[in-house]
Amino acid sequence: MSASADCIFCKIIVGEIPSFKLYEDDDTLAFMDINPANDGHALVVPKDHARDVHAISDEAISRTVITAKKIAAAVEKIVAPGGINLVQCNGPAAGQSVFHFHMHVLPRSEGDDLKMNWGLKPGNMDAIGKLAEKIKTNV
Ligand code: AMP
Ligand code: ZN
Repeated sequence: MSASADCIFCKIIVGEIPSFKLYEDDDTLAFMDINPANDGHALVVPKDHARDVHAISDEAISRTVITAKKIAAAVEKIVAPGGINLVQCNGPAAGQSVFHFHMHVLPRSEGDDLKMNWGLKPGNMDAIGKLAEKIKTNV
């Protein structure tokens, strides 16, 4: 796997930084977002470092989307939100803050008024961990 030395998601992939892991296979990893825009907000990343949609290989993006689909199904089952956005940002103007390609699995509810570039608000780690346990047993 190719990694980038100062990339926070590469560090999560190798376990140097802890995460609420939901699922992993040879090519992808899913974990909870620690600044959830809504309950159950998860991230899916390719294990090979690629900065954005322009850098990622066709194969890696395909596998990442397949994993995002699995995670969305588990989030749907456990969180039962009104809807789910699969969101992916490229470049600062588009709201990208971590430069390792990732897909947000973002639960939505009617009237949550979430906009693109929703901003970061630290979550409650106990609550995120408890939700992660439930979601991961349903992937
Ligand atoms: P983006 O703004 O699309 O680049 O999304 C990056 C996401 O990564 C944000 O939603 C952050 O909350 C999330 N994030 C940053 N650091 C961590 C971390 N250590 N563990 C989990 N999520 C993180
Ligand atoms: Zn990386």
